[in-house]
Amino acid sequence: MKVEYATRAVEQDEVRESAESRKADGQAAAPVPGLDPSRLGTAQPAVPERDRREVVFDIRELTARYGSNTAVRDVSMEIYTNLVTAVIGPSGCGKSTFIRCLNRMNDLVPGFSADGQVVYHGIDLQGPSVDPVAVRRRIGMVFQRPNPFPKSIYDNIAFGLRVLGMKDSLDDRVEHALKRAALWDEVSHRLRSSALSLSGGQQQRLCIARAIAVEPDVVLLDEPASSLDPIATSSIEDLMHELKRDYSFVIVTHNMQQAARVADVTAFFSLSQADENGDRSGVLVEYDATQKMFTSPSDQRTEDYVTGRFG
Ligand code: ADP
Repeated sequence: MKVEYATRAVEQDEVRESAESRKADGQAAAPVPGLDPSRLGTAQPAVPERDRREVVFDIRELTARYGSNTAVRDVSMEIYTNLVTAVIGPSGCGKSTFIRCLNRMNDLVPGFSADGQVVYHGIDLQGPSVDPVAVRRRIGMVFQRPNPFPKSIYDNIAFGLRVLGMKDSLDDRVEHALKRAALWDEVSHRLRSSALSLSGGQQQRLCIARAIAVEPDVVLLDEPASSLDPIATSSIEDLMHELKRDYSFVIVTHNMQQAARVADVTAFFSLSQADENGDRSGVLVEYDATQKMFTSPSDQRTEDYVTGRFG
């Protein structure tokens, strides 16, 4: 942990100095250091104009609470198909809560409630007739720590397929998912071995394979690389680049370099000012093409965050 914080502090110092020297030169805010600005959000040749993007989620005035604690307040934004959308911001500003609202994962948390709407392809996900299990089939999730089932590699993929009745050509489906997650070559000779015998990075790719095996539309990733080494992290990022032609990804990350590398568009969340009771909640500050967010954000709070002055 210490190493991680120390590294981050150095990164932030570099960003700050670089931002300040550019400011002195009258230039726009610095991008994240160590990155060629032309490679920001390299997942895309170019982000399509807003009116040419297809909306997958239309989030309207979403407020989410745990008991009386408001985790996110009044968030409105659209999420688009076949893009990687990053959600960044300081710890506790509601990033995880927000993406968990996109597949009703918070339903499982006692005391959770939400107002507003999460409209998915025209359907209000919180509507009474919506089946949360069906929602989670269409909108898969990969968590911070790889969480394979204590079963074989094969059964990790086959399990969800069997539960959902997708039993035809099971072997082919398993192979296809593992190939798509760039894991097949490493595991094809030991499909019956325990998934727990895989490395952390392989386990996380297995979880991605498991998520995509059931043919979802969207994959949500909550800090998917935070427990992985840089090589495994890079392979997860490569995978997102590769797979976004077929899926829409929403990724929560506290790692700004990762957001800059992987995301087409980035949403910055922060904590509001304290209200009359001293309570603060997560709010969406700015949402735009990643390149813009990291080089010339519109909101001072975004600039302070991406240049390391805050958070
Ligand atoms: P982030 O992902 O940005 O770190 P979270 O969404 O995890 O933020 O947390 C936002 C707020 O919601 C915090 O105040 C946190 O304590 C609270 N919170 C998150 N998960 C739960 C939970 N399961 N039960 C109660 N409060 C929670």
